[in-house]
Amino acid sequence: MTFSADRSYAESLDSADELSGFRDRFVHADRDLIYLDGNSLGPLPVRTQARIAEVVDQDWGVGLVRSWNSWIDMPREAGDMVAAHLIGAAPGQVIVCDSVTVNLYKLASAALVYQHGRDVIITDDDNFPTDRYVLEGIARQHGCELRLIHTDMDDGISEKALSDALDDRTALVSLSHVAYRSGALADMRRLTRLVHEAGALMLWDLCHSVGAIPVELDENNVDLAIGCTYKYVNAGPGAPAFLYVAERLQDRLQQPIWGWFGQRDQFAMGPHYDPAPGIDAFATGTPQIIGTVGVEEGARLLGEAGIDRLRAKGVALTGYVIQLADEWLSDLGFTVASPRQDGRRGSHVSLRHPDAWQISQALIRESVIGDYRTPDRVRLGPSPISTRFTDVWDAMDTLRQIAADKSYTDIPAGESRVT
Ligand SMILES: *Cc1c(COP(=O)(O)O)cnc(C)c1O
Repeated sequence: MTFSADRSYAESLDSADELSGFRDRFVHADRDLIYLDGNSLGPLPVRTQARIAEVVDQDWGVGLVRSWNSWIDMPREAGDMVAAHLIGAAPGQVIVCDSVTVNLYKLASAALVYQHGRDVIITDDDNFPTDRYVLEGIARQHGCELRLIHTDMDDGISEKALSDALDDRTALVSLSHVAYRSGALADMRRLTRLVHEAGALMLWDLCHSVGAIPVELDENNVDLAIGCTYKYVNAGPGAPAFLYVAERLQDRLQQPIWGWFGQRDQFAMGPHYDPAPGIDAFATGTPQIIGTVGVEEGARLLGEAGIDRLRAKGVALTGYVIQLADEWLSDLGFTVASPRQDGRRGSHVSLRHPDAWQISQALIRESVIGDYRTPDRVRLGPSPISTRFTDVWDAMDTLRQIAADKSYTDIPAGESRVT
């Protein structure tokens, strides 16, 4: 099919979409809402709603503390599901626990101690805030240097900047696989190899790629990874994150939070911490069961759709956003602030406009939910499993109307607390 800006083209893409049936696997409480923010909070799968109700009513309500017998292994089981369906990891290397922030702290601290003698951590100046802050804190605590490489906000990580920054003092490099603002996709294979050549460990943050992009952690020889589950994995607000530690490193790294869920014989309640073998040592305290159920169901659903098919649809959806932006929005003050090359782009697109904040608020008023990102970006994240091409067409059509008639100018220019 050749591109046309008519809505009928979007309709024909929807009819040819092999994944179209998955839309009905999600709750659509408001049929008129167009939701392009699955990369901030994924929508609710129908089965997750039912499973969570069951866990609350039966396992908790009736089973009470007896249910821990079936709950206790869930973090590792859910981790193995994420590993197999979404991130190319053999079993026993992923556990679902804590938040991304806490998992980054655990893994980066452990890596730094393991690499004793090396005293530099590298990340980039456009990395997600929590990543930069946690690494800044760890560097301060250990008397190390945090080296920030410069990343172009729209174009993504520069291989040259990274290679110039690496040296024999570098202990760890921590980068995001997909940039949260522009959606720029880093070359995991090349960058990991570069980091290893310098003798450093590589930690990838998969928050904006897991569930939308095939990730091959084992094949790319990645050391460490973290990721969240409430974006494309659709596990629900505040659902626990996951962490990956390559098997070869599990018994050599010691994470800094010595909790009883990481203890070898947890219920012996012994006097001293003795870490459990394998990935279990990277757990901390009592797991969040309701959220973990969301992770299991989310990973299962994405696995059923197939990550390669999801990626193909994600490329098509974001490519379509860009085509319509070129057709309709370039005369209205917008520029595309994401890589145009399919292989260099994750599953969302950012559009730059001086009044981006007001425009994103006006879109919400018209029941089109994307989001705003500093300094001047409207971010649109079509979710490959639940967004239709006609949703993209309708959203872009609304966007061009708002921008053309300037109906957004009655919205105050200040930002609200959650953007
Ligand atoms: C969403 C996101 C996070 C979130 O971390 P939390 O601890 O879950 O708040 C971290 N890093 C990146 C790159 C993200 O996109």
